[in-house]
Amino acid sequence: MEKVSFQVQGSASEPYNVEISRSGSRLQCKCDCPAGEKRTPCKHWKGVFEGEKQKYMGISPDELADLRTWITGTDVEYVWAEIKENERMQDALKREKSALFAKLKRVMWE
Ligand SMILES: [Zn+2]
Repeated sequence: MEKVSFQVQGSASEPYNVEISRSGSRLQCKCDCPAGEKRTPCKHWKGVFEGEKQKYMGISPDELADLRTWITGTDVEYVWAEIKENERMQDALKREKSALFAKLKRVMWE
């Protein structure tokens, strides 16, 4: 098992502690922020895999780049892809709904 611990400066004055471990196809991410404490996926570790700029501490840019590759081939990668696909569909539906409301305005008032 590989394990990396580092900190991310969030909105609170104290930075959050993030721990990411990988064992085979299993990737585990823990964070001690309020969301993370409730086991809700939080931006502090999601940001790592989305390449988001955050204030990282206790990890070098090279280590961070290596860490980003850890998601490949894990169960998290596959579920993550499903979530992203779901978000794409939601966006498409929102655009469709806006277009329908525009159409409604046209048929009512034009
Ligand atoms: Zn967090």
